[in-house]
Amino acid sequence: MTGAARPTGLGRVPQPGLTVPCPHCRATVGNACTIPANGRRLAAPHPSRVDAAAAIQ
Ligand SMILES: [Zn+2]
Repeated sequence: MTGAARPTGLGRVPQPGLTVPCPHCRATVGNACTIPANGRRLAAPHPSRVDAAAAIQ
């Protein structure tokens, strides 16, 4: 619970880590993780982001 407006599509989360910003690559909420060096999108969130998402649930 952040108090901020939730994105649309409740109940349909494509990746578990997307509900929080990534502490590793600084991807914003709802955006896939990227490789900072070249900006490529990753298929899965960084482990630290998944942990951060799990910690707030
Ligand atoms: Zn990331």
